[in-house]
Amino acid sequence: MAIYDPKSLKAEEFINDGEIMDSLKYADENKDNFELIDSIIEKARLRKGITHREASVLLACDDEEKTKEIFALAEQIKKDFYGDRIVMFAPLYLSNYCVNGCVYCPYHAKNKHICRKKLTQDEVRTEVTALQDMGHKRLAIEAGEDPVNNPIEYILECIDTIYSIKHKNGAIRRVNVNIAATTVENYKRLHDAGIGTYILFQETYNKKSYEVLHPTGPKHNYDYHTEAMDRAMEGGIDDVGLGVLFGLELYRYELAGLLMHAEHLEAVHGVGPHTISVPRIRAADDIDPDQFDNGIDDDTFAKIIAIIRIAVPYTGMIISTRESAAMRKRALRLGISQISGGSRTSVGGYAEEEPEEENSAQFDVSDRRTLDEVVRWLMELGYIPSFCTACYREGRTGDRFMSLCKSGQIQNCCHPNALMTLEEYLMDYASPETKEIGDRVIEEQLQNIPKEKVRQIAADYIEQIKNNGKRDFRF
Ligand code: SF4
Ligand code: SF4
Repeated sequence: MAIYDPKSLKAEEFINDGEIMDSLKYADENKDNFELIDSIIEKARLRKGITHREASVLLACDDEEKTKEIFALAEQIKKDFYGDRIVMFAPLYLSNYCVNGCVYCPYHAKNKHICRKKLTQDEVRTEVTALQDMGHKRLAIEAGEDPVNNPIEYILECIDTIYSIKHKNGAIRRVNVNIAATTVENYKRLHDAGIGTYILFQETYNKKSYEVLHPTGPKHNYDYHTEAMDRAMEGGIDDVGLGVLFGLELYRYELAGLLMHAEHLEAVHGVGPHTISVPRIRAADDIDPDQFDNGIDDDTFAKIIAIIRIAVPYTGMIISTRESAAMRKRALRLGISQISGGSRTSVGGYAEEEPEEENSAQFDVSDRRTLDEVVRWLMELGYIPSFCTACYREGRTGDRFMSLCKSGQIQNCCHPNALMTLEEYLMDYASPETKEIGDRVIEEQLQNIPKEKVRQIAADYIEQIKNNGKRDFRF
C-alpha cells in the first residue's frame, strides 16, 4: 500500500487515498470539537494557510456560528490580499477535437453529433481581434486532446498568432493555456512560447472514480495526469493552475485532494499553485448534470470557496461564466480574485454568434452578460475590474510572484496597475454609462494607494492614458 509523502513525485503517494480517508474520518470525529475548530480558525487568522486535514475539519463542521466565522475570515483575507480588485479574462476555444472519453464533457470522442471545429490561424486572428475589441488583455486558451488535429505545434502557432495581433490599442498580454497533460519537452516549448499560467483540472482526485469517468483515451491514465504539474514545473513553467470539477465525486474528498496537491507543489517546488479554479458541472450538448449524483448546492459551494481562501491565501481563485451572476456575486466576496466576462464556450464564438445547428460549446454559459455589463456590475458592487498582466510581463512568476505577495507590497503594485488598466478599458472600450462610473471609481481609489510616491506616479500615468493616448504603463 502506498504511503503518504507530500514530497514524493508519485501520484499515489502525494495524493494518497489512505491519507484522504484518514483525514475525512478525523474530520467526522472532530466536527463538533469546538476547541480544535477554534484553534484551526485562529491558525488561519495568521494568514499562512491551513492543512488539508484542518480544512477537512472545517468543512465537516456544520455549526452555524462557526460557519459564519469561517465566512467572515475568508472575506477578511480576501480583502487583505486582493483588496477590491477582480482580474478579468476570457476563454478562447481553439479546437474541440478530442480523442478522450470523459463522460461529463460533450467533446468526448464518441459524441458524433456535436459540431467539430478547429480554428485556422486566420480565424484565430478574427477571434482575437473581436476579444481585443471587447477590451480583453488576458486569455485562457482551451483545446481538446488530439495529437492529429491539435498537436503541440498547432497550439504553439496559435499562441504566436495571438501575441502578434495588435489591433487599434488592443493587445493580448498574457495567454494562459489549458491543454491536456503532456511531456516535459512540450512544457518547455510552451514556456518558451511565453505562456502565463498552465492550467489543468484534475477533474477528480479519486483514482477509482477518475478511471470510470475517463474510460478511454490517454487521459485515462490517472498517474500521468496527476503528475502533470510536476512535469510542467520541470519544463520551466512557474505558474500552474489547479481545479476539480465539483459534482463528479464527493466534495469532501476533492477538497482534501486539491489542498494536498497544493501542499505537494509547495513541498517539492517551493511554490504552490498560482490559481485554483472552482468549476461545477453544467449542462451541455449530450451531458445532463443530474446524471452525476454528487452535485453540490450553493451553500456548500460557498463554504468550499471560503475554506480554499483561508487554506491557501496566496493562491488566486477563478470562477467562470458557468455560474450565475448571483452565485458569482457571493463567491467574489468569499475569495474569488479572477472572473471571466463576455465568454463564449464554443469554438469561434466571439467574432460571430454560432448558429444553433452548429453547437460546438463545451458547456452552457449561465452568466451571459457582455464584458461591459460585467465590468459595470463589478464597479457597482464596489470592485475594481482589473486588466492587469504586469507580473508576468515583469518576470514576476512563481516564487518571485509569491515573495511580492508575502512582502505586503502587492497593494502598491496590483492596486495602481488595476486602476491604470481600468482607465485603458474606459478610454478604449467602455459604454458611456460604464465610463461614468469608472471615472468616479478611479478618482476615489487612487487615494487608496498606500505609498505617496506610487500614488503620484499612478495619477500621472492615468493622466497620460486619458489625455496623451499613452498605454501599457505598469508597476
Ligand atoms: S474534458 Fe477535455 S479531454 Fe475530456 S473530452 Fe472534454 S476536451 Fe476532451
Ligand atoms: S500586479 Fe501582478 S499580481 Fe497584481 S494584478 Fe497585476 S499581474 Fe496580478
